[in-house]
Amino acid sequence: MPGRTVLISGASVAGPALAYWLEAAGWQATIVERAAELRSEGQNIDIRGAAREVVRRMGLEDTIRAAGTGEEGTRIVDAGGRTRASFPATRSDTAGATAELEILRGELSRIVVAQTSAEYLFGTTITAVHEDEDGVAVSFTDGPDRRFDVVVLAEGMRSRTRTQVFGTEARIRHLGMYTSYFTIPKKPGDPDWWQWYNAVGGRNLGLRPDNLGTMRATLSFLSPPRGYEDLGQDEQKQLLHRVFRDAGWEAPRMLAAMDDAELYFENLGQVFAPTWHRGRIALLGDAAYCASPLSGMGTSLALVGAYVLGGELSRATSHREAFANYERLMRPYVDKAQKLIPGGPRLANPKSRLGIKVLQTTMGVAARIGSLSLLTPPADKFELPTYS
Ligand SMILES: Cc1cc2nc3c(=O)[nH]c(=O)nc-3n(C[C@H](O)[C@H](O)[C@H](O)COP(=O)(O)OP(=O)(O)OC[C@H]3O[C@@H](n4cnc5c(N)ncnc54)[C@H](O)[C@@H]3O)c2cc1C
Repeated sequence: MPGRTVLISGASVAGPALAYWLEAAGWQATIVERAAELRSEGQNIDIRGAAREVVRRMGLEDTIRAAGTGEEGTRIVDAGGRTRASFPATRSDTAGATAELEILRGELSRIVVAQTSAEYLFGTTITAVHEDEDGVAVSFTDGPDRRFDVVVLAEGMRSRTRTQVFGTEARIRHLGMYTSYFTIPKKPGDPDWWQWYNAVGGRNLGLRPDNLGTMRATLSFLSPPRGYEDLGQDEQKQLLHRVFRDAGWEAPRMLAAMDDAELYFENLGQVFAPTWHRGRIALLGDAAYCASPLSGMGTSLALVGAYVLGGELSRATSHREAFANYERLMRPYVDKAQKLIPGGPRLANPKSRLGIKVLQTTMGVAARIGSLSLLTPPADKFELPTYS
């Protein structure tokens, strides 16, 4: 289908990456993004396995490495900050908690967007889609209605347009954990390591270095779904103060700095959709198959998915054929990536003091024998098709 028009909703990683591949094949891309500007929040994300080959084919591997976080590895620490287990960054494409190509999500998004010449409409969302024989008519919150040959939703895990088009078919499986990300000032003595600390009650605190002279903080806690993700940011901060005030380690510093920071707060989950396309509309990235940050695979799936969808749309004779091929090629890869370590968040966040001791000892042993398989899912095998 050479030289067609595509509307992509969502300007994070998956959406702009798809625009890149379609533009290379002569398509015109328009991207709508709900946020008023490109979002910069988020922490370190990994580019693994086949996704690494994708960024190589985009000519971006060196740019991404140069913008890497410089994280030297992962340390499990105790309340006194003493290291209980240590996993240095790996040069492997596929294994380990800290990948060799590790970059802030916002930085990756910025780099990919800069490679595209798409039309970006910020502060805009789709309000209605109407499909006919020749294309899709789309209405927006802002501006006139427009027509496109195909529409791709790359709106992340809680995509609202997905619900509009696919109804409740796509299911979000909650993983029983809330997590929040924010950026805090770096202080002298902060190591260039990801420090991970478990506190009783199924809580964990993380501090990671970045390449921008600040530290990336994470506060996570086990909880059944309670709708906290829908609270306002001030209420979410109050909640985090209540949950973490007695957590120990760097909790006081992190909570104090959080009050001045932009917070990204989410109910961890995975998306399972029985189909990724309906007529001329397709799902991509987290909107289709969110694997959750626990998998370490979300961004890799988004990059590989964008490559395959872009390639199939460029070479197929119809959108039907392209979407069917995209789903057939990607399903097995996604299924593997979505398989989390049995026990998932509960295993990594024990509730009792004894549980934390057992976890620290197990991690210590794993570190000594150099076993990193505990920390990554087996999702490294995907044969990238070649598209002209
Ligand atoms: C702000 C932010 C921070 C993140 N931080 C982390 C992190 O620290 N660690 C991690 O592992 N993963 C993080 N993620 C998720 C990670 O980016 C994805 O798992 C992965 O990169 C796949 O990206 P995606 O483009 O499919 O979806 P996402 O990265 O989720 O992007 C979806 C985009 O769509 C936009 N959007 C949502 N709804 C609409 C709508 N109705 N209309 C138009 N636009 C819409 C969103 O604003 C966002 O820009 C974060 C995502 C975001 C948005």
